[in-house]
Amino acid sequence: MKIDNSRCLITGGAGFLASHLTDRLLERGCECVVVDNCITGSWSNLADAKESPNLTCIEADVTQGLPVDGSFDWIFHMASPASPKEFKPLAFEILEVNSVGTKNCLELAEKTGATMLFASTSEVYGDPEFSPQPESYWGNVNPNGVRSVYDESKRFGEAMTAAFQRAGRADTRMVRYFNTFGPRMRPADGRVVSNMICQAIAGEPLTVYGDGSQTRSFGFCDDSVRGTILLAESDTSDPVNIGTENEFTVLELAEMVIRLTGSSSTITHLPALPDDPKQRRPDLTRARSVLGYEPQVSLEDGLQQTIAFFKDRLNLVG
Ligand code: UDP
Repeated sequence: MKIDNSRCLITGGAGFLASHLTDRLLERGCECVVVDNCITGSWSNLADAKESPNLTCIEADVTQGLPVDGSFDWIFHMASPASPKEFKPLAFEILEVNSVGTKNCLELAEKTGATMLFASTSEVYGDPEFSPQPESYWGNVNPNGVRSVYDESKRFGEAMTAAFQRAGRADTRMVRYFNTFGPRMRPADGRVVSNMICQAIAGEPLTVYGDGSQTRSFGFCDDSVRGTILLAESDTSDPVNIGTENEFTVLELAEMVIRLTGSSSTITHLPALPDDPKQRRPDLTRARSVLGYEPQVSLEDGLQQTIAFFKDRLNLVG
């Protein structure tokens, strides 16, 4: 079923990725209801979308229930702090939004006949023992380490989503995002792309944690949103990796950011983070075969757009 002109609920829609999703859904003629408690999101991310009569914004915490009326065709449960920087200060919010919040979304899907899409993550693979990671990999996760509030709550969210599907209580989808980046990331987000771009623009040293040999595959937000909608429209309830296969070391990323910003910044090394995954790269076989998904934006092109956003945002154009 095509998503055009449907009624969608987007939790976390004031956040970085889900605000881009909301924009695309509005372009497709959807009526969008966004619920966000703004602990990491900001309504300013929906500044353009707010012009649309098809957008309703509700400030609320999805763990306390969903204060919405009527039925939905799709529910996108995108709400959750996602940066490792927040894993300690927002530990309980993360645990609850991916457990209680997911259950609330699934129960609303059951009640209204909506298809519920759960935003999962490559973090379910933990510190993977091999690369790339296919969806069939069960992962290598420390169940009580500093990252566990995120990893394990996303794994629990997947378990809850799969249980609703198995019991015939709701039609569900699960997407596993790999290091999505792009405009609307917060300057203080703490993740490597936003940190390094802001540091390069300010002429400060770029912080590399550890020796910088750890790898990530950075997916541009537009590609992630396209994959999300393709998955929503598909009929697969199995998890699907969405990202790009272009794997870079953190050191390579730092060098690229310095080159693209034309910065005179140097690189400084800080201690490695505990349980920091050493490698991460999606196996996109399923996304290709089931969704016909193909990432389109290179790291360099995506970084150019993100740098332009941050220069504008930080009022440091030039
Ligand atoms: N990282 C870094 N410098 C920073 C922020 C992060 O070297 O200023 C590293 C971090 O240790 C990790 C990688 O970059 O190895 C990606 O970190 P991020 O927080 O962006 O995402 P995640 O660890 O969740 O993939």
